[in-house]
Amino acid sequence: MAEIRIEQLHKSFANFVAVQNSNFVIDDGSFFVMLGPSGCGKTTTLRMIAGLELPTEGRILLGGDDVTFKRPAERDIAFVFQMFALYPHMSVADNIGFPLKCEGVARSEIRRRVQETARLLRIEPLLGLRVSKLSGGDRQRVSLGRAIIRRPKAFLMDEPLGALDSEFRHLMCEELRELHDSIGATTVYVTHDQLEAMSMADSIAVMNHGVVEQIGAPQEIYDRPATMFVADFIGSPPMNLLRVEGSLQRGERSVTYFGSRIEVPEIHESQENGALALGVRPEHVSISDSGTLRGQIFAVEYLGTNQIVTIDIEHAKVKARLPSTTAARVGDSVGVSFHPQKIVVFNATTGRATPSALFEGAHRG
Ligand code: ATP
Repeated sequence: MAEIRIEQLHKSFANFVAVQNSNFVIDDGSFFVMLGPSGCGKTTTLRMIAGLELPTEGRILLGGDDVTFKRPAERDIAFVFQMFALYPHMSVADNIGFPLKCEGVARSEIRRRVQETARLLRIEPLLGLRVSKLSGGDRQRVSLGRAIIRRPKAFLMDEPLGALDSEFRHLMCEELRELHDSIGATTVYVTHDQLEAMSMADSIAVMNHGVVEQIGAPQEIYDRPATMFVADFIGSPPMNLLRVEGSLQRGERSVTYFGSRIEVPEIHESQENGALALGVRPEHVSISDSGTLRGQIFAVEYLGTNQIVTIDIEHAKVKARLPSTTAARVGDSVGVSFHPQKIVVFNATTGRATPSALFEGAHRG
């Protein structure tokens, strides 16, 4: 298996820039997810790693080798697509063994490795069946089998679970991660589904308009979004973003929100431009009579063990994730407060998070 290094990668289609100046390293053996909305450049990046698309600029290194201009077949990687590109008239065993047959591997060796692969995927009983007789999930397992049988340096997966229903997707996510761990593969996985990304990834690259906005472990991206885009894209409901005019000096520990003082983690870089946004996850919002801000409950969405309560405060609506046992009725007048150490202060002009004790603590931790 191998590390994948992306250096200054750029891809334009005529005047349209699909990928802009991407730089990242995918560690050997890690499960790396590229996440972002439709059209943000995930697939184009993956196709460049695979060798199916040539970059306009930049380099791709696989295990230290510059593969930027190598053909796909020379890269020793396997690509798993969303559509099950299987041969329906052939048996499961023949589909899985097909890449080895193409390489001229001896029949007995193919049989041994097909058995080994099927055991790993728990599809041994299916080996003699035709692919056309299989369910969607089993077809996806056979596709994976065909990809892993060669034991390539890396697996590239483009929305491989997109065609499955949601319950099955969840199960396949667990299986995929387990498979990844058992073969020690480097996996690059593209999805627009944050739950898939969060549940499987060691590292996530969040992309928007061809730009990698942030790379980090799922919890890091969730707790400390580097940009307002990431704050809004990750989380359901997303992070509350409260816009306010004002500047901040280094060392300050509070922001004035329309006359109310809101405590924030110590600011480490002055923000003079005058436009700020306070980022607060719904689970860090609480309601109590002593809350700093006053508001009125606008909506209550019951979710079983918890509820999403939308509160109309001055100039904004804030969503709180509260235990269902908390009394909350539409129209109630309530006090609202935020967990002070969890607030991300953004520069609303650049969209970037302001360095603060929240980020600093994370580095030391
Ligand atoms: P999706 O999930 O919808 O596939 P994505 O993030 O994978 O989204 P890409 O497929 O990488 O996005 O496409 C990024 C942008 O580049 C899109 O706007 C797309 O229309 C454009 N694009 C991709 N391939 C080509 C091409 N061959 N010619 C012109 N434009 C292209």
